[in-house]
Amino acid sequence: MWRVFRPDAAAVLHDKKARKSLARYFAVMEGKLPARFLVCKRVEVKIDLSTSDEELWRAHERGLKEFRRLLSRIDEGKVKLEELKQPDVSLLDLKVELAKRILKSCHFCERRCGVDRTAGKTGVCGVGERSRIASEFMHHGEESVLVPSYTIFFNGCTFKCQFCQNWDISQFPESGVEVSPKTLAKLTEEARKNGARNVNFVGGNPDPNLHTILETLNECEVSLSSVWNSNMYYSLEAAKLLFGTQDVYLTDFKWYQNSCALRYSKVPKYLEIVARNHRLAFADSELIIRHLVMPNHVECCTKPILKWIVDNLGPMVRTNIMDQYRPCYMADKYPEINRHITSEEYGKALEIAKEVGLQNLEH
Ligand code: SF4
Repeated sequence: MWRVFRPDAAAVLHDKKARKSLARYFAVMEGKLPARFLVCKRVEVKIDLSTSDEELWRAHERGLKEFRRLLSRIDEGKVKLEELKQPDVSLLDLKVELAKRILKSCHFCERRCGVDRTAGKTGVCGVGERSRIASEFMHHGEESVLVPSYTIFFNGCTFKCQFCQNWDISQFPESGVEVSPKTLAKLTEEARKNGARNVNFVGGNPDPNLHTILETLNECEVSLSSVWNSNMYYSLEAAKLLFGTQDVYLTDFKWYQNSCALRYSKVPKYLEIVARNHRLAFADSELIIRHLVMPNHVECCTKPILKWIVDNLGPMVRTNIMDQYRPCYMADKYPEINRHITSEEYGKALEIAKEVGLQNLEH
């Protein structure tokens, strides 16, 4: 039974727009359909996992096609997950193997450091081979539809946001405690029993921990929606590995100008990569987009981002326009963002959302 402490988390169960845009997520939450990673575990791939990368990726393409076919049949009620046998090698086993190979020349994100994390090397994010977490708990502060959300905070991040509220987690990858996928799977199963609506992988950022997260899902036997709570800067290879495993992409779309992303998050080519990954995520599964309104960035970033969402993903994507920016970490070095946003700035962001036609706002 869900233990819901926020009235809006109960009310959202009757919100028609939320139900429409996150229809499958609701069905999983209500026990009508299995989580997508469980379907992925039932897709057989006929491949020797010791073969070449190229062969594995080809098998992955074939497996994804079969996954989509099987998912449709399950969602239409033509097949039941329980009737399907556990294959010798599943699509999720294959994803885990591919993720471990990527780790040897890391390109989980578009920084593409190319370091061998299995040999003790680290790249820009500083995350090693073994994932570390700062905390894990039942989170009641997420979007209403997600609460209560069993949230796992990984240490380390692929960005260097100068104003980060979680800088003690994101910028200190060596802190926290090492944790195994088996342990995380057990904790996730326990959280389901205790009423979690989903398991929410965040940080820092989940991207450098993709291998651990896929292995966690592979160990997990309960049907619980998986939420990929990311800055959306992951590589195309990581995007492909995510296909079929996530019930909700909980995305962060913060900048529209690459110059803003470079100045404040120290990351190049932001728009191309983040926009691409939004399109891919939307084609794969369901989405909740977060946009944090930044001081002095309504015209250059908020306005074109909200328009981009409508133009590229449609007006019904669940979108959370967030007003909670507060200057943290090194924000005092940047006078233009070294303050809270004004009520005028937030009001203007909501006005733009209305003007561009966004119809499914979290509120
Ligand atoms: S996940 Fe970390 S090591 Fe890997 S490419 Fe990104 S920043 Fe570099």
